[in-house]
Amino acid sequence: MRANDSIIVINAGSSSIKFSMFSGPALALTLRGKIENLYSGVARFIAQDADGCTVGERDWRDGQLDHEGGMRFLFDFAQTHLAGHRVVAVGHRIVHGGVAHSGPELLDAALVDELEKLVPLAPLHLPRNLAPVRSLLAMAPHVPQIGCFDTAFHVGQPEEAQAFALPARITGLGVRRYGFHGLSYEYIASVLPQADPALTHAKVVAAHLGNGASMCAMRAGRSVASTMGFTAVDGLPMGTRCGALDPGVVLYLMQELGMDVAAVQKLMYQESGLLGVSGISSDMRTLERSDDPRAKAAIALMVYRIGRELGSLAAALGGLDALVFSGGIGENSASLRAAVCRDAAWLGVALDEAANAAPAPGITRISSADSKVAVWLVPANEELMIARHALELVEAA
Ligand code: ADP
Repeated sequence: MRANDSIIVINAGSSSIKFSMFSGPALALTLRGKIENLYSGVARFIAQDADGCTVGERDWRDGQLDHEGGMRFLFDFAQTHLAGHRVVAVGHRIVHGGVAHSGPELLDAALVDELEKLVPLAPLHLPRNLAPVRSLLAMAPHVPQIGCFDTAFHVGQPEEAQAFALPARITGLGVRRYGFHGLSYEYIASVLPQADPALTHAKVVAAHLGNGASMCAMRAGRSVASTMGFTAVDGLPMGTRCGALDPGVVLYLMQELGMDVAAVQKLMYQESGLLGVSGISSDMRTLERSDDPRAKAAIALMVYRIGRELGSLAAALGGLDALVFSGGIGENSASLRAAVCRDAAWLGVALDEAANAAPAPGITRISSADSKVAVWLVPANEELMIARHALELVEAA
């Protein structure tokens, strides 16, 4: 990897394509951007350089831009803005790798076909992840593309952590807990030992709290349990997802309210969580600014459920040495962190109130010096994790 060699990371979500470029042997972030609002309203593209200066902007007002059109635009943008940079690989975040894909892999048409078979396991996200891979295989077949799976970090969890209490004829079909946000947790696991060598073999619970939210128990940097399961709707309440739900509720909705599968899916994925409980917004900032009791109830429920999961994950670990906050809410909401840590005092968690209220930038400790459990803030950086994997794979090739 020479100074101007670059790796591009693509993170294609349900209605957006985010991209980042990392350059040189140290993988310094040199460009980042996104196209948002694909398929609806005004799609918007923005790109910024490492200093946050805008280097590209564009709107599409016809509501027609899809993932393929977005990728074509990004490809052209890259061609004109990459002067001097050589793209040595493109890394993709892929939500699901099933049981078979426990690490990053070089993507070719055959592997994409194989991954398509996993679409029933992640019908909302996987097709969106794979669309840019197919587009690039056609547009730039010579550029190696590397798939990094959000499930891979959890593949080695103990059997009981992965199992549902269902008959083998069902579990044999792949109905088991997979866990997600694995690239975020893998990044956290990779930086904690540098932040404090005492954390190398520690029992850690990390909370990735963004629009999607989950928690993961890690021992010595390896996942042992997570709150997301067969799908990314399990576990914590999220922006619009309900999180863990008594499966009997689904039966009730269908039998008594006559809801069909599509209606239940929409309810669980798009109308629940912070949005559903508050009736106001899925956005934590909006809820924190609101005096409406329903906004307070939504936040209180999220805090309560984080606390319940923390106890459960600490039990899976047999103890707790550190708690990590990450993701848009985890990194920015001092009041949510304070509430979670107050409820976790029984585990030996004690915050440094001043450090929590105004944390130092970057990876930083926010617990008091005498806290039995260290509390850390780690800004999420799945993209860098993907770039590291891509670099490793192209250098090994
Ligand atoms: P995604 O999962 O889509 O990547 P993010 O990690 O960006 O999402 O997290 C988005 C969430 O973070 C939203 O609920 C947003 O309100 C919340 N958030 C961002 N900044 C703040 C802030 N300053 N205070 C409280 N919440 C914030």
